[in-house]
Amino acid sequence: MNTRTPIAEAVQGTSAARQPEGTKAPSGGSAAHAVASVGATLAPFEQYICNACGYIYNEADGDPDSGLPAGTRFADIPDDWACPLCGVTKADFAPYTPPDLAALQAQAACTPALAARQTPGVVIVGAGRAGWQLAETLRALDAALPITLVTACAGDVYDKPLLSVAVARQLDADKLVRETGAAAAQRLNVRLLAHTHAIRICADTQQLRTTRGTLPYQHLVLAHGAQPALPPSLPAALCWRVNHLGAYLQLRAALGDTSKDVLIVGAGLVGSELANDLALGGHRVTLLDTQPEPLARWHDAQAGAQVLQAWQDLPIRFVGGVCVARVEKIQGRYRVSTECGQRFAADQVIAATGLQTPSRLAQGAGLAWQNGIAVTPDTLRTSDPHIHALGDCITVNGQASRYIEPIVRQARTIAADICGCTPQPYESRPAMVRVKTTSLPLTLH
Ligand code: FE
Repeated sequence: MNTRTPIAEAVQGTSAARQPEGTKAPSGGSAAHAVASVGATLAPFEQYICNACGYIYNEADGDPDSGLPAGTRFADIPDDWACPLCGVTKADFAPYTPPDLAALQAQAACTPALAARQTPGVVIVGAGRAGWQLAETLRALDAALPITLVTACAGDVYDKPLLSVAVARQLDADKLVRETGAAAAQRLNVRLLAHTHAIRICADTQQLRTTRGTLPYQHLVLAHGAQPALPPSLPAALCWRVNHLGAYLQLRAALGDTSKDVLIVGAGLVGSELANDLALGGHRVTLLDTQPEPLARWHDAQAGAQVLQAWQDLPIRFVGGVCVARVEKIQGRYRVSTECGQRFAADQVIAATGLQTPSRLAQGAGLAWQNGIAVTPDTLRTSDPHIHALGDCITVNGQASRYIEPIVRQARTIAADICGCTPQPYESRPAMVRVKTTSLPLTLH
C-alpha cells in the first residue's frame, strides 16, 4: 500500500455530486434553480454537503445507486441512508450553496496577466484528488489558461475513500476509475504528462525538470501528496502500501479470488478499515499495532474497544502492544516476527504505518519546510511566490490535514490567487473522521 491518506480523505460522489466543484456550476448551479416537476410546492432543488468527505447530494440528481431517484428531497431520505462515499449518516450533511463562480470568472477574464496568453501557464505536480481538483477549479475560472499536469501514475480519476470498502462492495478497477486521466485531460483541456516524474524545481528560472523534459511555468503547484512512512523493519519490497489506486489494484490482483492470510501492520484508520474490508471479503486478517487497541489516537472516544467488539464475528485477529522486528519471504509466504518473539505467517503483508511528505522537490527548491511544505493560509503560496501547494503535502503552521474535505477549499484559494480574483483565504478546520469499518461505522472528531 502506499499509505492511504486517512480514510477521511473522501472525495465527492456520484453523478453530478461527484463532479468537482469547478464543474458543478453548470449542472449543480442550474439544478439548484431547477424546479421540481412533481409536488405541490415547486420549491427549488437544494444541495447538501457531507461534512466528512465533501460529497454533495443534489436533490435534482438523487442518488440512484442508493435507490434514491432523481428529485428525491433531502428531507425524504431515510435516516439510515449513508453517504455513498464515506458512510456517514444523513445527520452529518449540511445545506450547501455552490460557490458563485460566475463572479470569479468575470474577474479572472479581466486579469491582464492571464489575458495575455503568451505565458507557460500553470504546471501542477500530482494527479490525485488535489491535482485534478485544482485543474477543475482553474479551468472553471479561465477557459484559456494553459494547464499542464505532471504525474508519475496514469492520472486516472477515482474516489480514494472507496479503496477501503472496495472488496466488500465488489468494486473492481472498472468501477473504481471514475474517469480515465486521458478523458479528464481532454474534458478540461489540460496537457496530461502521465507516467512522468518531476525531478527538480529550478526556482530561479521557473522551470520544472521532469523525466520528459523541462517545463517552464508561470505558476507551479505542488499536489504530489504524501508517501507511506515505512519503518526499517518493513522493507518496501516485502509489503504493500495502499496510498493510490495503482498499488491498490496490484494488491487486489495479488490476493486473487481465494481466501488469503493477510497481515496488516498498523491499526490506525487505514489499517483498521482495510482489515475490516478484507475480512468482509473473506480473507483472514491479522492486525498488529504497537498500541494496545486499534484506533489508539481516539482512545478517549473508546473507538478501539468498540471496533474490537464489532469485529467479534469477523476473521480479524488483533494483536496489540507489539513492534515488528523483521519481515522475511520464505518459500512464497511471509513470516513477520515481533521484537517480543512472536511469529506470524501470511500470504501478503500490508504496511499502514502512516504518511510522510516527500521532501526532495520542495527542499531542492529551497522552499520553507515545517513538517511538510509550509504554506501561508491566505493564498496557499509556499515561501516562493510562484509556487503554491495543496493537499497532503502541505502544512499550515506546521500542521498537516490529510483529509479530502479541505481540498476543494484549498483549490479555490489557489485558483483565485493565480487568476487574480478576490482572495479566498483558506481556513483550517477540525476534521470529522469517518471510520469506514462497515461492521460498526464510527464518526470521530
Ligand atoms: Fe461523506
